[in-house]
This record gives sequence, C-alpha cells and structure tokens, in this order.
Amino acid sequence: MSNQNNHYLSSDWHLDRRCFGRKTVLLLIDGMRQDMVFSSDRQSAAKMRFLDSARRGKSRIAGIRGNYSAVVKVQSPTVTLPRIKCLTTGRVPGFLDVLWNFFASELATDSIVRRWHSANFSVQFYGDDTWTRMFLGSFAMAQGLPSFFATDFYEVDKNVTENLREALNATSSWDVLILHYLGLDHIGHIEGPNSRLVPDKLAEMDAVVESIVTALSSQPVDWLLVVTSDHGMSDLGGHGGASPAETRTPLVLLSSVQLSSSLDPSIELPELEQTDMANLLTSWTGVQPPRASLGLLHPSLGGLACGGFSNSLLSNNWLDLLELEAELNSKSEAFNRSERSKRCAEDLNYCYSEARQAQQALVYASAEYSLPRMLIGLGLGCLCCLFRLPTLLQAVGMMTAKSNGPNEFQSADDRHFD
Ligand SMILES: [Zn+2]
Repeated sequence: MSNQNNHYLSSDWHLDRRCFGRKTVLLLIDGMRQDMVFSSDRQSAAKMRFLDSARRGKSRIAGIRGNYSAVVKVQSPTVTLPRIKCLTTGRVPGFLDVLWNFFASELATDSIVRRWHSANFSVQFYGDDTWTRMFLGSFAMAQGLPSFFATDFYEVDKNVTENLREALNATSSWDVLILHYLGLDHIGHIEGPNSRLVPDKLAEMDAVVESIVTALSSQPVDWLLVVTSDHGMSDLGGHGGASPAETRTPLVLLSSVQLSSSLDPSIELPELEQTDMANLLTSWTGVQPPRASLGLLHPSLGGLACGGFSNSLLSNNWLDLLELEAELNSKSEAFNRSERSKRCAEDLNYCYSEARQAQQALVYASAEYSLPRMLIGLGLGCLCCLFRLPTLLQAVGMMTAKSNGPNEFQSADDRHFD
C-alpha cells in the first residue's frame, strides 16, 4: 500500500475553529424504520406532526433555516452495536460484532466521539448503555441505561428525556448531545410495528424533537439536530436481518444554518449510506473524519460543512475513496491522484458519482463474509455464552427476588439482543 501513513487522512482536513460554539444533537430512535417518518399515508405523518412539518419547512419556529431528509441504507447485521460502530467510525463492521453487541466493550477504532473528545468538545450522552461501554471516558457527562429488557417501553425513555431537559436548560455546558431512545424498538420486539402503542411512542418522540428545536432556536448559536435510527424493524417487529424494513432508516436534519439545497420532500428522497453519517457530523463540527471512514459527504449537504462548501475538502475525501478502490482492485500503480484531482475540479458531479461507486464497492467488500470465518465466530459465540452463563443465572435470580419493586424488570424472558 502506498502512502500508508496518510492514506485515509486528507491533508486539508484539520480542526476548524470557526465552528466552535456550534451545538449538535444526535437523536437516535432505536428501531425506527423509514416509513414511520416518510410514509405518504396521512395517518403515519400525523404521528410525528412537528417533525413532518419542520422537515417540509413549514414549522412555526422561525429559527429553523435548513432542513434535509434522506433514507439511510444500513448493512446487516441490523443490530445496535455494529450500527453505532458504523455511524461513529464510517466503517462497516462484521458479523462478529453481533456477539460483541452482547458484551459491548471499549471501541479501539477511531470514531467521531474520539475526534470530538480530542478536540476538547464537551460531549454528553444519555440512553442505551452500549455507548457508555464503547466510549469509556469520552463523555463529559453521561448516563447509560440498560437495553437488556424488552418489556421496558417507558422507563428508560423517561430517564433520557429528564436528562435532556436538564441539558437543554444548560446548553452552555455541552457542544454535542447524543440521545439514544429504546422504547420504540422494545415495543416492536414484543408487539410488532403495528402495535397500538407505536403511534403514542412516535408522538412522544415528536415532542422530544420539538423540545430540542424550541430550546436551540432561542439560543444565539448555530445548531444542528440529526434525527435517525440505528436500524429498522421487520414486519414481525424484530431486526438483525437484511429485509428493506430493517435496512432502511430515516434521516432528518434540522438546522439554524441554511443547507445548500433543501430538497422538496415530495420528490423521491436521496439515499445515503450509514457510513456517511460520520463524515456529515465531523464536517458540521469542523473536526477531521475518523481515520479509514468510508463516508462520503453528499454535495447537497455542502451547506452544513464548517467554513462553507469547499470543493477541495470534499473532493479530497472522494479521491481517498477512489484511491482505496484502486488498491482493492490491485490497480494502485495506475492511479494518478493529481490527474484525478484535476478531473474532479473540472467536473464535480462526475467526480462525486465516481466516488459513490467506489464507496459502494468498498462497502460491499467490507460486508462480504467467508463461511469459515462465520463458523469460527459462531464457535466463539458459544464459548462466550458458556462463559457468561453463571452471571446471567445469578442476575435472573436477583431479579426474581426483587420483582416487587415498582421499576424492577419483571422477567428474564424479556432479554434481547438489541
Ligand atoms: Zn432491538
């Protein structure tokens, strides 16, 4: 591999201090499938009335100057830990990560959370404790809540909202706020996506969105709210597979900043890769994207990049992907970066579509699995389960003994891999 040391690091990316003071809220609603937000059916749109009007530029709140909607394509396995990894690193994790979902431990790979931490951003987190286990020591304030019991539809979410309320009353204490709600996913697991509880839960999430936008709009700072999900939900309510309902999630951006092209939501929505989220969030905050990210910033989102749209920055990221693809196909000898750079400057759209193709090839290559490796993974999984069996039995025993408490979880059968 040539230029190994700076291979994924475009030299033009650096910490851009012009964007200090920007507020970023990443709101993750676990298990939310794209048709829960983008359905043309009026009844569905009514469930998230505020979000729907805001993304169409029709909100009563004047502080929203930019909106953007897209469908995000997610690779399988559609379970939480690999998806958080993808969102935060821009890389495509493997099936072995399904196992680590159960035993989430600190993430060694470079990520947006690490980048923010290194740049002295104050990052707060509330919600699914997978995050607090993955990013130990990276949050200025955090409360990780257990995702283990699927019958909890309300307690964890209530807790997140209480923490959110405090954070919105003290916006000067954070730069980035990450929230991960679990109730919707849990309702899906137990009752399915057509449960009568789903509309109420979506309305609860809509109120959360409205409270964030209302609070941020009253501040004299630039802000971005990112509403998305880690994965979708199958028609039976579960997830983990590769069906469209599980692999298509919504993305809605609302911002005080005018995005360069707010799309007409009535036309077909653009489709992004989940890896792109890492680059989108780092572009907004002015920090370098995670090393080895396969993310790509869509040109229509150039308006949110710190310091404004810059062809050189964007095309540098694109050139990285083109060069990586050349290496994947053993054609790195023939790859001439300065030649390609010149061509990109001449025709940005063509360059972007080439980079998108390269990204698809790289994502596909990362997501390819060999049978022997998967069998090794399965074997390791069985060993892990055997190893943790006494702890699980002990936990079940403790919970049975405490089952009279008002907030205790009722049954060991509620456990699920999120
Ligand atoms: Zn789940």
